[in-house]
Amino acid sequence: MSGSSLRVLLSNEQIQARIAEIGLKIGADYPSGDLHMVCILKGACIFLSDLARATPRDICIDFMGISSYGKGKSSSGEVKLTKDLDHSVEGADVLIVEDIVDTGITLNYLIHVIQQRKPRSVRIAALLDKPTRRIRPVDVAYTGFQIPDEFVVGYGLDFAEKYRNLRDVCVLEGT
Ligand code: 5GP
Repeated sequence: MSGSSLRVLLSNEQIQARIAEIGLKIGADYPSGDLHMVCILKGACIFLSDLARATPRDICIDFMGISSYGKGKSSSGEVKLTKDLDHSVEGADVLIVEDIVDTGITLNYLIHVIQQRKPRSVRIAALLDKPTRRIRPVDVAYTGFQIPDEFVVGYGLDFAEKYRNLRDVCVLEGT
């Protein structure tokens, strides 16, 4: 893409340090029981893989596919389930692992979908939060970083499927 540039907002070192803290907190908050980490594809896949390894207890990893953003930078406002869970979460503690909370529309929808599966509890872990953009209320139990209203890529987050493999979270400027 011509005319665009990347500015590092959060370095990989900052991200790893924060994830280590969150992992320990999750371990302390869930001393026992069946804990399912549900990764929201695709953006949260890198966060999930680091968070899972930072959490010092047994967990079950599962995946859900959601599409709400097209190839551009703004949401269609429409949430579609593209892949469902492989395992039942009935009676289990569920931790939804998401890359970023923006308007809150996606997580609002997802919480509703998962609650219908009769889990023991549902909470959200989100690496990034843009609180000024919220349209729907979302209770995020574990937040990595609050960030300003800028479009970010890297560490799992994409723009038209690009940049997911960047180690840092960067602001994509000039597109
Ligand atoms: P929400 O439903 O909260 O508006 O949007 C959540 C989804 O929008 C995220 O899972 C992510 O896919 C996408 N999104 C929101 N903000 C950004 C951003 O700054 N960068 C990227 N790459 N995706 C974003």
